[in-house]
Parts: sequence; C-alpha cells; structure tokens
Amino acid sequence: MHDRNSPPQAAPEDSVAIEEARRQLRICNACRYCEGYCAAFRAITRRRDFDGRDILQLANLCHDCRGCYYSCQYAPPHEFALNLPRALAEVRRESWERFAFPQRAARLLQRHGVALLALALAGGLALALLASALGPAGGPAFYAVLSHGWMVAIFLPAFLVPLGLTLAGLRGYWRAVGGERVRPRQLRAALHEALRLSNLGGGHGEGCNFERGERFSLARRRAHHLVLWGFVLCFASTASATVMHYLFAMPAPYPPLSVPKLFGVPGGVMLLVGALWMAALRLWAERAPADGRAFWAGMAFVLLLAAIAASGLLLWLLRDTAGLLHLLTLVHLATVLAFFLSLPFTRMAHAPFRFAALLRDMQERETAGR
Ligand code: SF4
Ligand code: SF4
Repeated sequence: MHDRNSPPQAAPEDSVAIEEARRQLRICNACRYCEGYCAAFRAITRRRDFDGRDILQLANLCHDCRGCYYSCQYAPPHEFALNLPRALAEVRRESWERFAFPQRAARLLQRHGVALLALALAGGLALALLASALGPAGGPAFYAVLSHGWMVAIFLPAFLVPLGLTLAGLRGYWRAVGGERVRPRQLRAALHEALRLSNLGGGHGEGCNFERGERFSLARRRAHHLVLWGFVLCFASTASATVMHYLFAMPAPYPPLSVPKLFGVPGGVMLLVGALWMAALRLWAERAPADGRAFWAGMAFVLLLAAIAASGLLLWLLRDTAGLLHLLTLVHLATVLAFFLSLPFTRMAHAPFRFAALLRDMQERETAGR
C-alpha cells in the first residue's frame, strides 16, 4: 500500500513468522469471507499482495478479536491450516522486539513472564537496600521509607529513559511501514478510535470472540476500558500531586477529598478490576489462536498492573498500620519501578504500536478514498 516510488525504507526482512502470515493473508485475500470484520481486513482488501511492511502494519492493526479464526472454513484440521490471529500475533510480537532497543531485553520480556517478576523483585531488593543504607527518611507516607529527593532521583530517569526508547522504537516502526507526515485531523481521528477502543467492539458492535469462541462478547472491550481509564486517572493523580508539591508547597500525604485522591482511588480500583478481568479472560480463552510464546509474559504484564493497583490501594487503606507500611511501600515502589523500566519491552508496547497502526491506517484510507 505504501508508495513504491518513495525512497527505500528499513523494510523488515522476511522472518518465518512474516512468511507464514503472508501465506495466510494471500488465502484470505482470495476468500474475503471476513471482509467486514475489522480494520485489518479492510486494509487487507486494499492490497493485492503483501510485502514485509504491509504485514507489519496489518499485524499491529489486528486487535486479536479472533472472529476470523472461529468463522474460517480453512482453519485446522483443514490442510490450509488458517489461523490468522496467531500468525499476526507472532509478527506483532516480533515487531515489538525488532524496534526495541536493546532488542535482547525485549526478547526476554516479551517471551518470559518470569523475567518481569525477577525485575520487580530486583527493584524491590535494590530499593530496600538503598532505604536501609540511608536510614529512616523521617517523612510522612512514602517518604518515611525513601526521601522525596531520592524518589525523584530514581523514578524520573526510570520513567523518562524508557519513554524515550519507546518513542525511538515507534519512529522505527513508522518509517518501516511507510508512514507519512501526520495531519492534525488524522491524529484526532486515530485518538478518537483509540480512546473509544472502537475496534474492540467488533465489525458490528457485538464485541470480540476472544474468550467465548463463536459467541460474541464485549467483556474484553470493557476490561480494556477499565484499565485504560484507570491508568489515566492514576496518572492524573500523580501529576496533580506533583503540581501540589512543587507549585503549592503541599507535600503528600493527601486527605481523601483532595484532588490526587479523588483521581487516584477510583483509578486504582478501575485498574485493579480491569487487570484481573483481563487476566481471567486470557485464562478462559482458547490457546490455539494465541501466540503461545508470549502467553505467560503477557499474563505477567497484566498481573503487574494488578499488583501496582492493589499495593497502591492497600497503602492508602492501611496508612495507619505502621508495621505494614514499610513493606507495602517497598512492594508498590518496586512494581511501579519494574513497570517503568520494562515499558518498551513488555506487552505495554501494544498500546503505542496499535495507535501508530491506526494512524497509518487513517492515512491509507485517505489515500484510497475510503
Ligand atoms: S480467515 Fe478464513 S474465512 Fe476468513 S477470509 Fe481468511 S480464509 Fe476466508
Ligand atoms: S483476529 Fe479479529 S482483528 Fe485480527 S484479523 Fe482476525 S478478525 Fe481482524
């Protein structure tokens, strides 16, 4: 779909996963039974054939609803062995690994759930050692374990460096799929789709076939909404606390009716419920259409989100229980640290890559006039 007269970009070489996806996509493009199912199928039908860049884009546009798997007459045991959700999921994971730096970290964290657990444990241990080496910080709340200065010194770079690496990876993806200059209306339209999670509503608004086989369900969309908006509220809570600390000289802890708590408590509950719901959906879903190599790593990521939310809420609920406060603070800080440090290397990569794929799809639709 990209302009074939444009200067050569860093086209992905054809891995085994890309070759297999191409084989399946060619069959789908001849069949076209699933044409109206999703944005990925609409993009498939705009192409006559698929080079590596097309397949990268289609893989990141697919949101793994599995509708095409359950309705496919060529799915196993048919000799064509069509399993498009799995083929695209493998290319998708490869793309997150390919554009990450260092790639080795992405391969480790995208394929081994235990690596994320080890990172959280190592973070907790490092923070505990630092806290004990520095002695009691003597402040309220979090700051009784680690002073505000140390907190900023650790968490600011731990957030900004992985964020920069994520943006660099995204730039690599954008160039590889032939992305063009982004127009404000395209950005607005992609944001609108991303924030409404409209693709998770399925082609006719009935939802996905993710965890209920041939029956449709909106559970995955609702769980994603809880996680997304819970995450946004938690971020708003941290941002408002930072403003209160620096601009109004009002350090934590904050009362229940303060802005950080009004954002943070509902945000934490939504994140916890959404993450546990997503973990359950992953367990209920059939494994055949999933990328088997990434299953437990994906599960570890979802559980890390739940652990961040649960430890944050417990910290707030048990704020007067002196004996537990130290341990809970360390657990919460360690999970947040592991989340930040692993940002470009875990399943979290799906969010920026999917957004970039939506944006590129907007551009393709404009070019094709539909
Ligand atoms: S998934 Fe199966 S039914 Fe759907 S378009 Fe492809 S080949 Fe046809
Ligand atoms: S799994 Fe769903 S989103 Fe992905 S290609 Fe099939 S129908 Fe489209």
